[in-house]
Amino acid sequence: MSTSIEEFSPALPSVIDQLRSAVAGSVHAPGTGGYDLAVAPFNLAAVHHPAAVVVASSAADVAATVRIARRVGKKIAVFATGHGAAAATPDSIMINTSLLDNVVIDPQAKLATVGAGVRWQRVLDEATPHGLAALCGSAPDAGVVGVTLGGGMGPIARTMGFAADHVIEIEVVTGDGTLRRINASTDPDLFFAIRGGGAAFGIVTQITFRLFEIQTLHAGGLFFDIVDAARVVHGWREWVQQIPESVSSSIAILNLPPLEDLPEPLRGRSVVHVRYAHVGDVENDDALVTYLRCLGTPILDNLTEIMYADIAAIHADPTDPLPVMERSVLLRELPVEAVDEFLAVASPSGGLPLILTEIRAMGGAMSRQPEVPNAVVGRDAAFNLFTLGPDVPDLHDVLPGALESVLGAMAPYATGAALPGFAGEPTGEPAKRVMTGWSPETLTRLVAIRDQYDPERIFAGAARW
Ligand SMILES: Cc1cc2nc3c(=O)[nH]c(=O)nc-3n(C[C@H](O)[C@H](O)[C@H](O)COP(=O)(O)OP(=O)(O)OC[C@H]3O[C@@H](n4cnc5c(N)ncnc54)[C@H](O)[C@@H]3O)c2cc1C
Repeated sequence: MSTSIEEFSPALPSVIDQLRSAVAGSVHAPGTGGYDLAVAPFNLAAVHHPAAVVVASSAADVAATVRIARRVGKKIAVFATGHGAAAATPDSIMINTSLLDNVVIDPQAKLATVGAGVRWQRVLDEATPHGLAALCGSAPDAGVVGVTLGGGMGPIARTMGFAADHVIEIEVVTGDGTLRRINASTDPDLFFAIRGGGAAFGIVTQITFRLFEIQTLHAGGLFFDIVDAARVVHGWREWVQQIPESVSSSIAILNLPPLEDLPEPLRGRSVVHVRYAHVGDVENDDALVTYLRCLGTPILDNLTEIMYADIAAIHADPTDPLPVMERSVLLRELPVEAVDEFLAVASPSGGLPLILTEIRAMGGAMSRQPEVPNAVVGRDAAFNLFTLGPDVPDLHDVLPGALESVLGAMAPYATGAALPGFAGEPTGEPAKRVMTGWSPETLTRLVAIRDQYDPERIFAGAARW
């Protein structure tokens, strides 16, 4: 019979007691209402079971939690909004960052400084009155830090680059429990690694990044019935190879449930969704948009001039929690044959249990390293393929195989790598795909930096590789 140290020494405080005496925020044990609330994910398939959850009230709480986790031999997991695919395990202590919610906009310097618990929409809403825009992802209810650390590929990324390319300062707690404020001059290696390499190096408590003078976009989506799919997707493929850098676009095949929340023409239907965003002079894009509209008969057309803060309308991602499993791979090219494969696997006739399979056009500003280079993967990719299915009990065992078969069909055109935010849960093939994104030299450099700042791999519960 195994006996724990705590059973031998009843005077030794439990992990929960140690945390409670060290942090000002609340500490929750499994089986309590506070715990359930603090770990309730957006992706309902990523069910978190940490040994404890600390709702940090300050960066000092994060640092104290890391030091205790190290002392008691636990990993650290992190939770901001629960949009991620990783589930925290009982060998971890989870840090919930939702109370680190400071947002400071500096309109003169065109900078935002935000706490680790802040969601993009809040930054958009606070930057808009100053005529400024933040480079969020397609779903502005996701977290600023989580999205940015994986790269952050948003609806205007071809024009503006990855969110991580515009980070200028980070406050982070590293494996020794030290809170550091880092930038390109103070800690060039760590600053390189976190921007793209993510939580493998520490827990970010605050981040500062550039804002841009963008108030409106000509943007939105066109939906076509699945019967038009071949013409629309092949037509988009030809069109997208010629678009200027001021335009970003993606295309998705969606198999939608009959939900009341969906616009009536989309309910219970399989459709093709073409997304479009043009930064700059709207006069120039009439021809581009007319071409897209003529690819079929749109059943819904919400392509118009929008306020930047309404950028969520472009992808119209779901805003209510749902259980999904996801996979992704970067594509180096999209020849005609690749579109045929895409149509075969993603359409309902392919017989796979998929909700969404999308291709985002990359290139443009994403293909260039920023002035201060970072570890974001995908600079060499032309497209990003992403697919997800419903992780419900009936499908749980078959879904990984179904999602992998989509990637298998696209393998001849793939680089083999994946962006961390889209890859799926951070084990097995998805984690390998993330690491494949780095050259052997860069991976060696990242591992050396990780060994320096987290030699005990305490952040394995938060990292995506
Ligand atoms: C509907 C939807 C749309 C999306 N669209 C895009 C998109 O357009 N572009 C894009 O790039 N990605 C997109 N993503 C992926 C998104 O970038 C990742 O899911 C991201 O991890 C979400 O971060 P979060 O903090 O909101 O989620 P959480 O589940 O709270 O965190 C997920 C992970 O982020 C990291 N993380 C969070 N906080 C910290 C911290 N303080 N310190 C260190 N690491 C931290 C950790 O690795 C953590 O496990 C989308 C996801 C969803 C569900």
